Formats: sequence, structure tokens, C-alpha cells
Amino acid sequence: MPPAWRRRGLWSALIVLVLALLFTLVWLAGRYEASQVQSRLERDATEAVGEVRSALTRNVQSLQALQFNEPAPSVWLADAHAFLREHRELLRIEWRDPAQKIIAQVETPFSAPVFDRFGRTNSQADVVQTCSTARRLSGPAYSTSYFVLLAEGLGTEVMELCLPLVTAGRLTGYLVATYSLQGILNELISRQLTRSQEISFTEGDGTRLAIRGQARRADRVFTTHQLLDLSGTTLVLRLDNWRGAPDLFPNVLTALVTAMSLALIAILYLLGRDMRRRLKVEGDLAEALAFRKAMEDSLITGLRARDLNGHITYVNPAFCEMVGFSAEELMSQSVNAPYWPPELADEYKKRQDIRLAGTAPPREGFESVFMHKGGTRIPVLIIEAPLINEQGEQTGWMSAFLDIREQRRVEELSRASQDRLQATARLAMVGEMASLLSHELNQPLAAISSYATGSTNLLREGRHTSADLELAMLRIAQQAERAGKVIKSVHDFVRRRDQARDAVTPHALFDAVMPLVNLQARKLSVQVQLRLPPSLPRVLCDRTMVEQVLLNLARNGMQAMDVPGISRRVLLLEVKRYNNADERQLVFSVTDIGPGIAPEVAQQLFTPFFTTKAEGMGLGLSLCRTVIEQHGGNLSFTPHTPQGTVFSFTLPLA
Ligand code: ADP
Repeated sequence: MPPAWRRRGLWSALIVLVLALLFTLVWLAGRYEASQVQSRLERDATEAVGEVRSALTRNVQSLQALQFNEPAPSVWLADAHAFLREHRELLRIEWRDPAQKIIAQVETPFSAPVFDRFGRTNSQADVVQTCSTARRLSGPAYSTSYFVLLAEGLGTEVMELCLPLVTAGRLTGYLVATYSLQGILNELISRQLTRSQEISFTEGDGTRLAIRGQARRADRVFTTHQLLDLSGTTLVLRLDNWRGAPDLFPNVLTALVTAMSLALIAILYLLGRDMRRRLKVEGDLAEALAFRKAMEDSLITGLRARDLNGHITYVNPAFCEMVGFSAEELMSQSVNAPYWPPELADEYKKRQDIRLAGTAPPREGFESVFMHKGGTRIPVLIIEAPLINEQGEQTGWMSAFLDIREQRRVEELSRASQDRLQATARLAMVGEMASLLSHELNQPLAAISSYATGSTNLLREGRHTSADLELAMLRIAQQAERAGKVIKSVHDFVRRRDQARDAVTPHALFDAVMPLVNLQARKLSVQVQLRLPPSLPRVLCDRTMVEQVLLNLARNGMQAMDVPGISRRVLLLEVKRYNNADERQLVFSVTDIGPGIAPEVAQQLFTPFFTTKAEGMGLGLSLCRTVIEQHGGNLSFTPHTPQGTVFSFTLPLA
């Protein structure tokens, strides 16, 4: 499942759960509240039943008191009257003899006599049955309630109480009291129980027999039934409680739970919004990262980051491709990087140490040689810069690498063609000089020859005069002098270069040639070592010519080593002081470890146009010797042990 879907699913589940939880909480709170109301109602019902029961018991005692000391009927009537006036729940009291004949009777003063319309005889059976129950129980007994019609369509529910009168263990009569159920509700139940609820007596099927309290309309009704057990009958007391219009927050608990739920939903919403913002930021970041990665991957410049200990911490694909090692191989490197050519590793190690010591590299970069995994050497241009973190501290070095193989090839091509051009130019000059010389010398030589021939002819024919011969000799002398002048002018031309000499330090000479030497050294994988004592005196020379000599010798040495089988190609350039008795001079030497010079080659080494190379001209060494000899030095070569050749020349001090 994609993460976005899963996240959405989780969020929906969370929201559904929280909503379900909140609804359950609100519902539980409502139910709790309802149960509170219900139990209060039940408590009230129990209390009401208790009140009715104790009032009825009290009434029984008061009624028994009416018969105290067997009163005369007139006294009884007065007492009963007084009693009824105080007890509105009672409608009528009768005193009957044991045969159920009424001795005296009193009606309540608060309403019309109850049995006027109905007729007392209609309830005679009820009364008799109740009294027999009472006799059996030898105590008060109540009848089941029945309806008594009072007026057209009006009536009331009544209940009889029969109290057997016993004197000295003998039944002397009955006291029958008629209770109004409505009266019981009105008089015997305290007011606060009926204030907010409806109270009624009901039948088993729910029909109301009597009712008290206001019948309010409301949606929620709480109801409870409580049985009122009396001897002989059982009444059902019903309490109804109306709740007002449905309250959303019926009580503090529900309100609190609802408020907390709302707060929870608000927090959920805020969290969701925060999450969305985070996701957006995350998305932006991922996009930026992807862009950066694409940029790094498509770069053709190699990139490498190193920490302050020299360990590689990052390389881009271009760098890996350049050196042929994977990023893992490069990052797990130990001291020497795997792409360092073995012959240069020491030098690179030194350079790295210098860098790690904090010395900043040149801004414009420097050239170096790396080794591909396959062994080929690659010339590279390195541009290094310190890696600075947000706190402004340096955490390492960042380097960019440019593969300059193609550049080198082009440079080499142009250099070679320039070399060839120069050589051709030199040859042309030599040729021109030769033709000039021959042309210039031709005339005087031809003249000398013809004078000499003429004189010989005259001498042979014997008709010569001394004057003729003298003239011819004079002419010959003149022409010879002219030829001499031609030669001198060439000599002068060559000598004119003497004026170009100045005093230079060997350091300056090498500074000028090293870039060119290194260029070729890199191409032929030669390591160039330069040994120059720190303070060397100046030499008097024509800079350009001597530089050319050094260059020629170095190139010959490197070319000599360009044969298979030489593992570590080293070219040593060295300068030493040489003091003999009358001369003070410097000795320059160029040492290679090539195959050396065979004796047959050695004989012709300085012969112009002698070469063993396909592209060679064979002029290099002969020119070198001329130049050095013109400077008053000499050029020689000796074999080098164990192999190779040392070419050395001397130059006088300035
Ligand atoms: P070129 O270099 O054009 O051939 P040079 O006069 O400079 O002309 O050299 C002549 C020949 O001498 C070279 O062809 C080569 O055979 C030989 N030679 C010169 N220097 C060395 C050297 N250091 N080791 C071996 N042979 C050399």
C-alpha cells in the first residue's frame, strides 16, 4: 500500500475511533444522568409509599380511639365528625354491629355524601368480605378499590377499611371507613414529592384510578411503580417524572464531556493541519534533494569530499567513473587512496599531509595524475576548497576533478607540430645559410680558380711577364680576402648572439623548462626529480639556448625510457658546483635509466642528422654541443649504473 494511502487510512481510523469514543462518552453521560433521575424517582416512590403506609396506620389507631370505653352513639358521632374534619382522605365512617347493621354513620363535611347516588347496598358485599378478612386477621383489613358514581359522568375510586371491634375477646361490631384514593394522594403524600412529578394509583393494566400532579407534556418520561401492600389488598403507586424539552447538555457531566470532546476534535484538526504542513515541507525537501542528486549525478566533473582525517566521505558518480572504483571502495580506503599511482603515492601523501595541516591549495587548482582501476594514468585538474558547515567550522575538504586527458592530447599535438615546425625552420635556415654561403663564396672561388688557371696557362706557354703574374696573384689575393669577409660576416652573425648573454641562476633556468618537461613526463609516466642545492651562483649564458639544451637532453632521456620493461621511470635533473684549479663552473646533468647507448650509436651521436627514431631529426645533440661549446663549456655523456645514461655539460660562472 502506498504510504499516502496508509496514512490516510490511519487518520480516518483515528477520527472514527475518536468520534465513536466521544459519542459513547456523551451517551454514557446521558444514560448516567437518566439513571440518576430514575433512581431518585424510585427513592421518591418508596418514600411516598412509606408516608401513605404510616398515615394509614396512624388513622387506624385514631379510629380505634373513637371506640374507646364503648361510647354512646351521640358521643361517637361528635368524635367521628371531628375526626373526618381533620382527615379529608376519609369520606365516611360507619359503626356496625356484628351482623353488619349500621349503628351510626358520619359523612365527610367536604363533599356530598358519597353513596347518595350509588347506594350503599351496592357495596355491601365488598364490606362484608373485607370484614370477614379483618376478623380472620383480627386486625384492620382493606377492600379492593372500586368506582363510585357521584354525578353524571363523575365518580371517585374508593376503598373500604374494616376494623373489627373486640371487647374482652368477643366481637362487638365493626368500624368501616371509606377512603378516597384521590384523598389519599392529596392528603397523605408530602407536597415536595408531588411538586415536579405526577403521582397516581393504577390498576394492573395501567388504568389510572386517582392522580395528583400536573400532567406536563414532555418528550422524556421517567416512570416507576411501587406496590403498596395493605392487609387484604395491594395498590400500585406510579410516579412519572417529565424531563423538559430535550436538553443537549442535560447536566454538567455531559457538558464537560462534550466540551472536552470538542477540544479533542479541535486538537485533532490542528494536528492534522500541522501534519499536512509537515508533509508539504517534507515533499519540498525531497524534491530539492532529488534535484540536487540529479544535478550531482549528471555532472561530468568529479566531486569528492574528505573529512579532516583525509577519509573520503562523499564521491559523485562522475568521480567513480573517472577512477573506476565504486563509492563503497573509495569510502572504505585506508591511508593511500586506491587511485594514486604507486610511483607517485609518496608525493601525494606528502601533499595530503600539507593540505590536512591546513595549508590552502591554490585557487586556480593544480594538475595531478590519477590511476584508473585498470592501471591507465589520467591527468586531472584538481580544484580544492575547504568544506565549511553552518557553524562556520571547517569539516573537511571539497574537491572538484576535471579529466584533462583530451586537453593534454590537444596540447601534446600542438606542441609536437610546433617542434616539427621549429626544426623545419631551423633546417630551412641552415639550408638558406648554406646556399647563401655557397652563392657568396662561389664568385670569389670562381674568380680565384680562373685567375689560377690563366696564370698556369701563361706559365705553361712561357709567354708570361712578371707583371701579368703579379696582377693575377693580386687578383687571387683580393678574391680570397673577399671570401674571407663572407666567412667573417657569417661568424659575426653567429657572434652577435654573444651579446644576448646574461647572468642567470640555475633555478631560473629550471623554472622555465620544468613545465614543458613535466608535460612530457606526465604523458610518458615519468617521475621527474630535481636536485638543486639551495644557493647556487649565477652562470653567464644565453638563456634561450641553454634552456633548449636542457629541454633536449631531458626529452632524449625520457624518450629513451619509453620502452617496455622499465617499472619505475625516473629522470634526475641535477646541478653541482665544480671547482678545479683555474676554473669555477657549474655541472648540469640529466640522468635516465633507459637502456643506455650502444657503442655503434655512441660513435655517431653528435653527427648531424644521425637519429635512431622514426620521428627524429638527429640535430638535437649536435646543436647542443655547439651551443655549450660556444659558451665555453663542454657536453659529454657516460653510462649510468646499473642502467641508463648521464648527459652532463658545464657552464662558466658569471
Ligand atoms: P633525435 O633526438 O632527434 O633523434 P638527437 O641528436 O637528440 O636527435 O639524438 C640522436 C640519437 O642519440 C637519438 O636518436 C638516440 O638514438 C640517441 N640518444 C640520445 N640521447 C640518448 C639517451 N639519453 N639514451 C639513449 N640514446 C640516446
